[in-house]
Amino acid sequence: MADDARPGSSQPADSQPADGQPADGQPAEEPFQELLGYEWTEKAYHMLMRGELNGEVISREKIIRSRVWGPCPRCGHDLDDRQTHTAVIGIMGAETRGGTTRGGVDDEEAPFEVDVSCGCDGPHSGAPEGKTGCGVSFRVALPLHPADG
Ligand SMILES: [Zn+2]
Ligand SMILES: [Zn+2]
Repeated sequence: MADDARPGSSQPADSQPADGQPADGQPAEEPFQELLGYEWTEKAYHMLMRGELNGEVISREKIIRSRVWGPCPRCGHDLDDRQTHTAVIGIMGAETRGGTTRGGVDDEEAPFEVDVSCGCDGPHSGAPEGKTGCGVSFRVALPLHPADG
């Protein structure tokens, strides 16, 4: 009687954990990160064009006030950015100092560029103390409206 116990088909049992599945359907929170890139400026521009983001610039007696409101291009939280710009060169006086000539500027409504930083009230982990928003900065060019009368 030959009783040869030969190793048959012993398959290695390496159980692979199935990762990559979020347990709950929680929305991914954007961690705070200081971002200043053209992509956000571009995204903000398209959001302005679509009317998702709003902006206005009003000039009155050499004081220019800008307001940008709507969802942040990055985190999507509501932001409301108000800034006051004083004594802006190149809008009231047409003093051309030799050097920078930006081509013929005949338009009355020259776009006014505003730098906006996200100041939403949404939660962003890792934000420095006293800082609000997700950290993104972008630039929008808005038509300047004189507010007289
Ligand atoms: Zn946010
Ligand atoms: Zn944001």
